[in-house]
Amino acid sequence: MTDATNVPATSTAPATSTASATSTAPAASTAPATSTAPATSTAPATSTAPAATDAASSAKGILYVVGIGPGARAHTTPAALAAIADAELIVGYTTYIQLVKHLIVGKEIIRTGMTEEIGRARAAVERARAGAKVALVSSGDAGVYGMAGLVFEVLRTIGWKRGESPELRIIPGMTALNSCGSLVGAPLVHDFCAISLSDLLTPWPIIARRIEAAASADFVIGLYNPASGRRTRQIVEAQQTIRRHRGGDTPVALVKSAYRKLQSAIVTDLDHFLDYEIGMLTTVLVGSSQTFLFEGYMVTPRGYTNKYNAEGDVHAGQRPGYSLVIGDAVTTEVALADDLDDADADADAAPAPVAPVAPSSHAATSREVA
Ligand code: SAH
Repeated sequence: MTDATNVPATSTAPATSTASATSTAPAASTAPATSTAPATSTAPATSTAPAATDAASSAKGILYVVGIGPGARAHTTPAALAAIADAELIVGYTTYIQLVKHLIVGKEIIRTGMTEEIGRARAAVERARAGAKVALVSSGDAGVYGMAGLVFEVLRTIGWKRGESPELRIIPGMTALNSCGSLVGAPLVHDFCAISLSDLLTPWPIIARRIEAAASADFVIGLYNPASGRRTRQIVEAQQTIRRHRGGDTPVALVKSAYRKLQSAIVTDLDHFLDYEIGMLTTVLVGSSQTFLFEGYMVTPRGYTNKYNAEGDVHAGQRPGYSLVIGDAVTTEVALADDLDDADADADAAPAPVAPVAPSSHAATSREVA
């Protein structure tokens, strides 16, 4: 989130918009601030407990920390729109303010550049603490490489306690992994992880170790902040590390400006993706050893074909709701209540009507899919 240097001003109406995000907007006051309260909480975020003894907080303010999704209004949740509508003051990086400009006419705005995040978070906290309704906007989800963490660090620094002003309402948004994944198929249907390649705030050796671990464990890998004008070495090193563990024909997607005006999505492979332009508006999705291409889409199978045939019949030796039998080693664990989601999925979901496609079949099929 820290070094986007080539962010263009973008429109908010991509061709893919399909729904009116405002039509079902709920009252902001129903934001689920209490739903994730830890068990030890004694002061739910929605309480009306007296504000801090701090002189600044005679009236209790609200700090909305809002993920606005990838950029298009149709992909901003009704709750996020309602929070922005309710706020008197909007704080955010200039590009994100631009993305919601149609919602904030007449409101006070604090917009600062990318390197002024601490100042932005402090301003938002201080104004909300003093009684204002403030929306701090972040792209995607504010809790994924976004401003939510910084808000808590500022709150910790000033000694804020639950129940004091401001009341926190953290509104989730569609993160880049979701939006980018949707544009290239279904790459995240099995275990995946996100790694940011920005070493502006994290030492490179730590990032490199995570890439190595994710690559060796066969995760689908979403690479955030893959490169910028000044930072080009990291993506090359990431490619080399992953390539030591995966074939050169492993599918890779480069999705740029998802659901924004200049959106592009390229599906290529591990040996060739560095031939394309990659910048701070790109998310790189690297497939696992199981990920395949199908009609230009990038798909990671959930594993249904390990247990079922295309008609939905269970393969000999396998049982719905039980651990997958691997070779001769039969696992006999009974599905426990904890596993019901998986068990239900195993037992009830229609088997995927896709036949595995040999990864090699996609060689030299780099193409634009959106
Ligand atoms: N909070 C954001 C992530 C911010 S970090 C989220 O939840 O998505 C910034 C990085 O996110 C960018 O460098 C890029 O890798 C990715 N990103 C954010 N928006 C994107 C978009 N619309 N299209 C493609 N990648 C995006």
